[in-house]
Amino acid sequence: MTKTALVCGAGGFIGGHLVKRLKKEGFWVRGVDLKFHEYCETEADDFVIGDLRDQQFVRSVIDRRFDEVYQLAADMGGAGYIFTGENDADIMHNSATINLNVLDACHKRTIKRVFYSSSACMYPEHNQLDPDNPNCAEDSAYPANPDSEYGWEKLFSERLYLAYNRNYGMQNRVARYHNIFGPEGTWDGGKEKAPAAMSRKVAMAADGGKIEVWGDGKQTRSFLYVDECVEGTIRLLRSEFEGPVNIGSEEMVSINQLAQMVIDLSEKDIGIENIPGPLGVRGRNSDNRLIRDRLGWEPSQALIDGMSVTYDWIKGQVDKKHNQKKA
Ligand code: NAD
Repeated sequence: MTKTALVCGAGGFIGGHLVKRLKKEGFWVRGVDLKFHEYCETEADDFVIGDLRDQQFVRSVIDRRFDEVYQLAADMGGAGYIFTGENDADIMHNSATINLNVLDACHKRTIKRVFYSSSACMYPEHNQLDPDNPNCAEDSAYPANPDSEYGWEKLFSERLYLAYNRNYGMQNRVARYHNIFGPEGTWDGGKEKAPAAMSRKVAMAADGGKIEVWGDGKQTRSFLYVDECVEGTIRLLRSEFEGPVNIGSEEMVSINQLAQMVIDLSEKDIGIENIPGPLGVRGRNSDNRLIRDRLGWEPSQALIDGMSVTYDWIKGQVDKKHNQKKA
């Protein structure tokens, strides 16, 4: 019998890639989102447009016992959206409502296992003040002190999924993603993340020019290529480990190093100008000890390989937009 999967947030960046992967594996896939994917035709067999904050709608799309359910829908964005404070109420209300609805509808359909994508943003701010030595071990989460309401909502929802495991015999799986990047992700408009923003700025900059980078550029992060994120997601859902577990890369770079990497890939002569801007924590890196131990797997691709593919894709997008404007 053909296996079935539900992907909530299928019109988004990671959800779009996940649908492709599940189709390759022969699943019948239903995707749900507020919108169609911006950059590609969906490969889902059934794509339902609707609002997962609406309980009736959620019950109508969870109309069978899917073999696999992935809940990725969230109100989110890059530093420019999460850290200004202006969107806090929406971020918390919208994402928490989605999770409450989806999880309960799955439980009522006697679906046992739901994958939930939490985020490294739930780690305490005080463990991420030293850019060279951030602590993101899974058990460092408490006492909790995320630096954004986005992180607090993730923490609440992680606990919600695990509470359904304890009280209702579910087997939900919780991952903490660390900065996922790759082609077919948001690259302009304010919700884009650092790898996409850098790629856009470099692609648009003229030879001999400069790009602006927020902060002093010494803040550190690691970035995970989307194919490896999807691989880790599927492995975790199908494993016997409930998590929460980091899905991220341990290759930590400063933001200026990331910018320089993109400049080098472009082969342009471009400088970096550090300017004030919304930042987030000083340092963050994935800690992969637990995933290695429990899944016998961890991401292994070098950052530059993923950045090379991503830069080429974003450059293509920038060129396309430019040509459209001219026409
Ligand atoms: P994305 O914004 O591209 O995708 C999320 C999708 O959810 C969007 O297409 C959006 O339209 C949809 N959505 C939002 N509200 C909805 C609603 N009310 N009803 C239906 N759909 C709704 O984000 P992404 O990068 O693909 O991230 C997927 C998940 O992974 C999110 O939960 C995010 O918090 C988590 N995550 C992502 C990263 C990352 O670096 N991309 C890092 C940590 C965690």
